[in-house]
Amino acid sequence: MKEEQIRPQDIYNEYLSLAEKDAHTFFSEAELTCGSCPACESDGVFAFSKNGFSYETCPNCLSLFVNPRPSAKSFLKYYTESDSAEFWATTFYKETAEARREKLWRPKAKIILEKLNLYLDKNYEMVDIGGGLGIFAEEIKKLTNKAPVIIEPGPKLAEACQNKSLVVIQKFLEEVEVRELPEGPKVFVSFELFEHLHDPAMFLVHLNRLMGSGDLFIFTTLSGLGLDIQVLWENAKAVTPPHHLNFLNPYAIAILLGRLGFDCIEVTTPGQLDIDILSNNLEKVTDHYWQTFVKTASEDEKVEWQKMIAKSGRSSHMMVVCSKP
Ligand SMILES: [Zn+2]
Repeated sequence: MKEEQIRPQDIYNEYLSLAEKDAHTFFSEAELTCGSCPACESDGVFAFSKNGFSYETCPNCLSLFVNPRPSAKSFLKYYTESDSAEFWATTFYKETAEARREKLWRPKAKIILEKLNLYLDKNYEMVDIGGGLGIFAEEIKKLTNKAPVIIEPGPKLAEACQNKSLVVIQKFLEEVEVRELPEGPKVFVSFELFEHLHDPAMFLVHLNRLMGSGDLFIFTTLSGLGLDIQVLWENAKAVTPPHHLNFLNPYAIAILLGRLGFDCIEVTTPGQLDIDILSNNLEKVTDHYWQTFVKTASEDEKVEWQKMIAKSGRSSHMMVVCSKP
C-alpha cells in the first residue's frame, strides 16, 4: 500500500493548511491547563512548538504529547465548527472513501476478525467507537452477516451511517449508557481516534464502565516511536495540532492500560507506510542515513525494511488488543 492511495497528498495538504489556520482561530485565546504524560503521569520535557501548541516528551515512557492543553470545550467547538474538521468529514472522506474501503477498511476488518478468532471463543456484539462513514461496519457485515453498532457523535457522519441502515448511537462515548448497547459479550473497536483524545485516560475510564468482564477493546493509533515520526519529528505531517495530541508507543500503552485496570493482551505495529511517508517528505528528512536510504533503496528493499520495521514494533501505526478482567 502507498500513502497516496489513502491520503492523496494534494487533498491532505489542503486539509493541513486549513488545520494550521484553525489552530490559531480556535485556540489562540483558549485557556491552557498544564498536565502530565497521558500514559504514565510523569512530568514531560519540552520538545518543540507547532502551530502555537507545545509538544513534550515523557522521560519515563517516551510518549510525545501536547502540553499544556486548551480546554475540552475549545476542542468541541473546533470539531463542530472548524473548516478543517468539516473538510475532513466531507471532502477528504468522500473523495477517498472507496480507495480507503479497499486499501484500509477491508484488510482491517479481516485483521480484527483474525484477532477475535485468536482471543475470543464466544459470540459477541461489536461496537465501533467513532465509526465515521460506517465503512468498517459495512466490511464487517459482509464477512459476518452482522454489522457493528456505531457510536458516532458527528451529525453528518451519523446520518451517513443511518442512511446505510446501520445502528448508530449519536453521542460521545462518555454520554453513552450501558442500556443503550447490545446485551451479552462485546468487542469494542476504535480506529485512529486515540491520538485525538483530549483526555485518553478519561476515555478509557468511560469505556471500562461500559464493558463487562471478558469484553475486548481493540484499537489503532499512532506510535510516537514509529520510524517516520522519529525521523521527521516536528516536521511529520502526523504531528499536527489541533487534531493529533497523543503519541504513545507500545511500552506507554501497556503502562496506561495497566494503571486503569485493563489487561493488555497484545500491542503490534502492523504499519505499511513509514518508509513511503519518508519518501513523500524527502526534503524534510535531515538524517543522512535515511536520506540516502530513501533515495537509493530499490522498491523490493523498501518492502523488506517496512516488513521488519512493522514486525519489530517500530512502525508508527499501532494496534492494541486489551480486555477488562
Ligand atoms: Zn510517560
